[in-house]
Amino acid sequence: MSLERQLLSMTPVQIADAARDPKSLVLLPTGAIEQHGPHLPIGVDSLLGHAFLKRVLTRLDNNDPVWIAPPILVGKSNEHDGFPGTLSISAESLRDQMLGTVQQLEQWGFRRIAVLNTHGGNSPVLRTTALEIAQTTTVEIGILSSHPATELSEREERFGIHAGQYETSLMLAIHPELVDRKKADCHWIDERFPAGLIAPENAPATFAWKTADFTPSGTLGDATQASAKDGEAWHNAVADMLHRQIQTLL
Ligand SMILES: [Zn+2]
Repeated sequence: MSLERQLLSMTPVQIADAARDPKSLVLLPTGAIEQHGPHLPIGVDSLLGHAFLKRVLTRLDNNDPVWIAPPILVGKSNEHDGFPGTLSISAESLRDQMLGTVQQLEQWGFRRIAVLNTHGGNSPVLRTTALEIAQTTTVEIGILSSHPATELSEREERFGIHAGQYETSLMLAIHPELVDRKKADCHWIDERFPAGLIAPENAPATFAWKTADFTPSGTLGDATQASAKDGEAWHNAVADMLHRQIQTLL
């Protein structure tokens, strides 16, 4: 793992120097350790967060004051309960961990934090905790957007939400040795509500769901369509997108 710009590789003196710059921006990665179908490793979300950061760092100027906090690797993944490989903490624990990390970064002197989240199950907790942080600390905090426009089919874009074509392609681009293509499969969450009015997200009506209700293997989407070439293009699109947001914040 590259230690470039990572707070965990710095001394207290170096951290105090970094925190003195009012423009300093700390990126807080949040991921998950959870089943990702029969063909992908359980660390996908955390590995992708690391890969996105690695790529965006190559786009920064040497003196851009951007620092990386120790990642929150285990997220709220109770929707994937029942599959071997899923480690999950409660919403309350995720809130406590995010709030505690931010409060301590504030004590060190940092005032600006951007969360880079790579696991959808964390999102509602991160949003409400960010509001709580804005109300109760002197820290400005936001959540970065890391999902670029893609050439996925409309069905995959809406319902390929876990270990499908998108995530499998991203993994093929950076860790092909960790992808078991022979086991890649396809399951759809929209078969229960085909009209599209009811969906897990981005629909007039949403519902709470558990992965095991829709897929025996853990895959949601069509992982058989994945390609390393698409994954490479999407990694660059994510890095460009994150870089634009970071430049705006600096
Ligand atoms: Zn994932």
